[in-house]
Amino acid sequence: MSCIFCKIIDGEIPCSKVYEDDLVLAFNDINPVAPYHILVIPKKHYESIIDIPENEMEIVGHIHNVINKIANKKGFNETGFRIINNCGDDGGQEVKHVHYHILAGKKLPMYEAEKK
Ligand code: AMP
Ligand code: ZN
Repeated sequence: MSCIFCKIIDGEIPCSKVYEDDLVLAFNDINPVAPYHILVIPKKHYESIIDIPENEMEIVGHIHNVINKIANKKGFNETGFRIINNCGDDGGQEVKHVHYHILAGKKLPMYEAEKK
């Protein structure tokens, strides 16, 4: 059985699409925590970032290129944004298909890694 994000890629589950090319899909998060909350996912299923083999890591560079394109198009290239990749249980990953969160559109609150 394919995962929920694979179902979105296959069109079995609808999404609010932001960007698509041969390798990646970007869509609005269903439960946004910022004015812009966009998920960028590879079309190929990898459970998490740690499962991407070294010789396929160029997909991550491509995802970053796409994030820049989206930032430029939406205009938050000027105001700033945050990229988050949760990996595994301790990282808080709920959906086990690699995804990058883009958060933008407001001054974002401090997050765990910044807490003393
Ligand atoms: P994570 O905790 O990093 O695994 O984040 C998973 C994210 O996927 C959460 O922010 C959810 O709100 C989001 N999400 C889950 N299902 C959907 C869906 N069908 N469409 C859009 N976003 C979703
Ligand atoms: Zn998947």
